[in-house]
Amino acid sequence: MNNYDVVIVGGGFAGLSAALVLGRSRRRVLVSDTGKTRNAVAHESHGFFTRDGATPAELVRIGREQLRPYETVELCSVGVKAAKAQSKGFEIKLDDETRIACRKLLLASGVVDEMPEIEGFKELWGKSIFNCPYCHGWEVRDQPLALFGGIELAELLKGWSDDLVLCTDGATLSEDESRLLSKNNIAIREERIVRVEEKNGQLENIVFANGETLARKAIFIRPKQQQHSALAKQLGCEFSDSGTVKVDDFGQTSVPGVYAGGDMIHPMQAISFAVSRGALAAVGINRALLQEDFR
Ligand SMILES: Cc1cc2nc3c(=O)[nH]c(=O)nc-3n(C[C@H](O)[C@H](O)[C@H](O)COP(=O)(O)OP(=O)(O)OC[C@H]3O[C@@H](n4cnc5c(N)ncnc54)[C@H](O)[C@@H]3O)c2cc1C
Repeated sequence: MNNYDVVIVGGGFAGLSAALVLGRSRRRVLVSDTGKTRNAVAHESHGFFTRDGATPAELVRIGREQLRPYETVELCSVGVKAAKAQSKGFEIKLDDETRIACRKLLLASGVVDEMPEIEGFKELWGKSIFNCPYCHGWEVRDQPLALFGGIELAELLKGWSDDLVLCTDGATLSEDESRLLSKNNIAIREERIVRVEEKNGQLENIVFANGETLARKAIFIRPKQQQHSALAKQLGCEFSDSGTVKVDDFGQTSVPGVYAGGDMIHPMQAISFAVSRGALAAVGINRALLQEDFR
């Protein structure tokens, strides 16, 4: 059975960042990645220092390329199916049934967004339907925007446009919420939404159940999320009420030797945060390995 210091589950932004730190720390590392980075659907990625406007695929390509000099780091496109704690470390089973062993395990498998059941929605996700104004607000600044969310999202989006309509898709807002939105010149549409229409791959209209349409350039939404992989649950890691994996400052979960980083550990999600959380977990892991060997 192949033996590694660390197996990293997920080679997105957190996983690749951790692999770089661990490779440079002379650790034998396997990065397993099924290649479904969360923002892969977006044309461009924004807000990541020195790489504003790069495509998500380009960022991943550079990240992988820069691991090449570190010959102790292996990349593998077969996913991790299961992991089991052993007396010293973990036994890992890959999707092709290969078994490997490692001393520490880093989960960097990200989250998946749940799309509402609205016709045309999935196709526009990452093109003109977005979750984060910090990532995509600038490109649609001062444009007519819709938001599928609450007061918090409305308050945030005011920083990018004054032409905002909050769509509740059938839900009713409280009087206080309606008053606050009206005070800020934010219109409300409480009708059910049946579909979104596009032209040349960009949002054109939101269509309501009563047949009326609302012309908008983009929609911002806070979708529900799930963990991309069931491994954290399978291993018995503790979760927060919001569904993220609980970790300490260096990514250690509630299960000894299992670390986690990236979107899966925090609701504040962006490439810069994922990269930082991956690097911190790598330092935590390397420190733990050094201590084990030294004492
Ligand atoms: C539409 C959209 C646009 C966005 N745009 C931006 C932007 O412009 N700028 C920005 O900073 N942020 C943006 N984000 C947020 C950004 O995508 C995330 O913060 C970032 O991808 C998190 O990195 P991560 O490494 O935690 O997870 P991910 O990048 O999602 O990587 C997780 C990886 O783990 C793999 N994986 C999962 N399970 C397994 C398994 N069992 N075995 C092996 N591999 C597995 C997945 O296939 C994936 O490759 C956007 C998000 C969305 C949804």
